[in-house]
Amino acid sequence: MMNSELLRKEIGRCVVCGTCRSVCPTTRVLNRETSCARGKLTLIGALSNGEIQMSEEYVRHIKECALCGACKDSCPNGVDTVGAFVAARAEIVAKQGLPFAAQMILKALIDPGGLKGTAIKIAGALQGLFLKDASAEAGLVSRFSLPVIGGGRLLPPLAKQTFLEMSRVKTLAVPIAQGTSVKKVAFYAGCGVNYLMPQVGSATLDVLERAGVAICVPPEQVCCGMPAYSMGDKDTARAMALKNLEAFEAYDVDYITTSCATCGHGLKKLFKELLSDDPALSRRVSAFSAKVRDITELLTNELGFIGKAGAKAAEEKVTVTYHDPCHLNRAQGIRREPRALLANAPSLSYKEMRFPCSCCGLGGGLSTTNYDLSIEISRRKAESIALSGAQVVATACPGCIVQLRDALHRYGVDAKVAHVVELL
Ligand code: SF4
Ligand code: SF4
Repeated sequence: MMNSELLRKEIGRCVVCGTCRSVCPTTRVLNRETSCARGKLTLIGALSNGEIQMSEEYVRHIKECALCGACKDSCPNGVDTVGAFVAARAEIVAKQGLPFAAQMILKALIDPGGLKGTAIKIAGALQGLFLKDASAEAGLVSRFSLPVIGGGRLLPPLAKQTFLEMSRVKTLAVPIAQGTSVKKVAFYAGCGVNYLMPQVGSATLDVLERAGVAICVPPEQVCCGMPAYSMGDKDTARAMALKNLEAFEAYDVDYITTSCATCGHGLKKLFKELLSDDPALSRRVSAFSAKVRDITELLTNELGFIGKAGAKAAEEKVTVTYHDPCHLNRAQGIRREPRALLANAPSLSYKEMRFPCSCCGLGGGLSTTNYDLSIEISRRKAESIALSGAQVVATACPGCIVQLRDALHRYGVDAKVAHVVELL
């Protein structure tokens, strides 16, 4: 994470050309200068020069951002806009602290076996008091307006049994036997799969089995730290990175894979950044990160899955389109692999949508800090999906799945949302 000096230098590299303004999803909705990268950088610079105070308004402008990276990608001067925004959020946390609810959630995620982790399970049991069924596939709708959540919002139910507690997964919680002739793969579930979508984890294990690899699932794994990092809580994110590094180092594998785009970005890049302050840890984390592959990347580029273990062709093919998660497309450069898997699945007919790379609106904590903005950003995505005529929208990130289901429900688009691995 940038310190104040690096942050000032980064801001100094901005030539205020405004290219970032034209690609920003929040600016498309809000249409004001402070919502785009150029405006935010100007505000951050003004704060660091003492020209403005860290007011409520300043904090709001900094948080009006999905951390999607479109500005960073398009910037002709290569300004690390996302790095600057995360550093600005860290300055806010250093001065004001994190909201109480966010602190509690992060504590539960770093110690799932502890008291606060148990609270997540209790919340799962009580969710029916506040949420009612929308449809079996889509999720639950809040019965009335709740703090943070709001009313009428489609939410994923907390899993009755987490992925890591499933009996199938517990049998994989041991190191793979030495001398195994096939590739050895460790699976990192992440919070989305573990707490909300264990079925995506099961589907991932299914495709890995069909690809003929030996699998293990280290049970000591915890949250990847990306939520803490994007909130500006670097210490918690670092502690999570270290816990995961130690958890996976105990397992001798060729690859570490995940079916969450955000976790994959964290495991590949964020861990290196967070643990770079210690040379010994830095070497260890480089070896760890070099093994990490998104599940679509692993299946396509390393395991030759396409054409090897396909499902039978259905009588009538299902039309599917694909939404690019920002953390897979921009952060990891993975676009071709999920499309290749879908296009070659015998039961699917692939159709590209308009603006497949536009942000769904979930990222950067926007769906909790500013839900109205977040769901308005999703409108364009819902319209693109409707125009494509697809029956199913595939994606590769549990977070995007949550947001897309809510958006399709909100804007009345009749399409299902699934992870790529559930369709193979
Ligand atoms: S595109 Fe880059 S250089 Fe241009 S205004 Fe935006 S951040 Fe500054
Ligand atoms: S990260 Fe995305 S939402 Fe945030 S300023 Fe850049 S383009 Fe806009």
